[in-house]
Amino acid sequence: MWTQAVDLHCHSHHSDGLWSPSEMAKRAHDAGVKVWSLTDHDTNTGWDEAADACSELGIRFIPGVEITCAVEMTSETSDSTSWHLLAYFPEGCSPEFTSWLESFKDSRVPRMKSMLSALAELGHQIPFEDVAKFAEGSIGRPHLARAMIEHGIVETMQQAFDDWIGDSGPAFRERPLPTIAEAVEMVHSSGGITSLAHPGYYGIPSDELVQRLVTLGVDCIEAVHGSHPDSLRFELMQYALPTSVGGDSHGTEKRPSPGKMPVPLKHLHRCFHP
Ligand SMILES: [Zn+2]
Ligand SMILES: [Zn+2]
Repeated sequence: MWTQAVDLHCHSHHSDGLWSPSEMAKRAHDAGVKVWSLTDHDTNTGWDEAADACSELGIRFIPGVEITCAVEMTSETSDSTSWHLLAYFPEGCSPEFTSWLESFKDSRVPRMKSMLSALAELGHQIPFEDVAKFAEGSIGRPHLARAMIEHGIVETMQQAFDDWIGDSGPAFRERPLPTIAEAVEMVHSSGGITSLAHPGYYGIPSDELVQRLVTLGVDCIEAVHGSHPDSLRFELMQYALPTSVGGDSHGTEKRPSPGKMPVPLKHLHRCFHP
């Protein structure tokens, strides 16, 4: 038995998505999704709106977050500077988790300010407010890129990353990241479960990767991700680790809405079953 009624990875304007949580909930519903999660980067500020929208639409909402973690295993074939861990709270979430997330958000502001002073030293003054106004929840580089367009420094987001604020750009600054182990522990003690997002991004052979995830106590692997070819999906589903499924829609043209992500029910973690 396969299902296309589940999509557990989606972004709104609370992080780097284009639309509101309720708009994304509506898009999920219209695509036939019955179990949906909003997983903005490092913030849960969109949960209330998403939950309200889902209860009106009659679909099940699972509160989620995509946590930016430190790189766990290095690879010669991938230049990822972080690993993304999805956290889900089908049974609700303790307030400690929110404060833990907030502590990282606090670190995003000083980091943004240090990128702005780097840009200023390179001749481009942008007031912090001009970046903050684009950020509904956690402030990050996509918001800075939009401010750079507005200030006429670059013409496109891509150019902002390529020339200035990408990982090897002159105005890039690191921010402190939790390890996967720290994030897993926090999520578990707050009543949630975890899944490694888009495992194909990290350049680690599947058997080594799954073995490490099991050791770390990660509960699932996002074998069925929008960017993965079928071959990788099937390969990752062969292990005992349950699967999660995520279209990773940001509301952009590439994938405007959640849904249409077929997954075999027997591999999907039981708490996500429709
Ligand atoms: Zn991600
Ligand atoms: Zn994502």
